[in-house]
Amino acid sequence: MKLHELHQKALTEGWAVPHFNFSSLAQLNGIVDAAKKLNAPVLVGTSEGERKHVGLKQAVALVKSFREEGLHIFLNADHTHSIEAAMAAFDAGYDSIHIDLSKLPFQENVDGTKKIVEYVKSKNPDVEVEAELGYLDTDYSKIYNEVIEIPEDSYTKVDEAVSFVEQTHIDRFAPAVGNMHGIALNDKVIRFELIEQLRKALPQNLTFTIHGGSGIYDEDIKKMVQMGFNNAHISTELRQAYTLALRKSLNENPDELSPQVYEAPARAAAEALAEEKMRLYNTVNVL
Ligand SMILES: [Zn+2]
Repeated sequence: MKLHELHQKALTEGWAVPHFNFSSLAQLNGIVDAAKKLNAPVLVGTSEGERKHVGLKQAVALVKSFREEGLHIFLNADHTHSIEAAMAAFDAGYDSIHIDLSKLPFQENVDGTKKIVEYVKSKNPDVEVEAELGYLDTDYSKIYNEVIEIPEDSYTKVDEAVSFVEQTHIDRFAPAVGNMHGIALNDKVIRFELIEQLRKALPQNLTFTIHGGSGIYDEDIKKMVQMGFNNAHISTELRQAYTLALRKSLNENPDELSPQVYEAPARAAAEALAEEKMRLYNTVNVL
């Protein structure tokens, strides 16, 4: 099944394709273990920093190798902040490109996103393009020891969203509706009335993406999935689970030198976290 078909199926049936970031093989293996166990499709992503560590072609080859074994797994270039970085990921064989120019003024975001959609679709229409509107200036995977109030101006505006989607023809739309990257001390308050307005105003088959899913209440996530957020990102929580397990394993076994041994609990922790999220997103046995 193609990624686009997967997202449309998820939209019709009320579940979400989970998206997890990775930068190590043990992390990726943990995610894959969960997907196999639950018979779930999965989107894995690399940010610009992560892909530098893994290698663009290497990330593509790894994901392809799992797909050849029958898994419904796809690779996303998460938060690419330039046209060049987005094109490089497409050229290397990524299945999905997230062009994130949300920091730029509206029209520059539109123009850059449009350029990527045209580039990608002219060469391979099966590759999805995601873009975002509304800007949250928080670190992608940080746990903040402070309260972070989202500025009113950072929320996605409905009229801008309509114009943005009409002009760019993206496959997936990532709005700012109370979600933010990282986890802060305060609760993430999701504006459901804004989501309703966006859903009404935008094309019905448009996939919405949840960014900054870590730290949103489970009940709110479930509701968002039912409202058409059929692509859901978790990064901070998975990194946290993986890293804490790895640190504990290294501390408890200071003489152990074999990565396959001391990384095993970290892989298992990534698997457990991925499994928990797949259950939350209603992604079990959907194929
Ligand atoms: Zn994100």
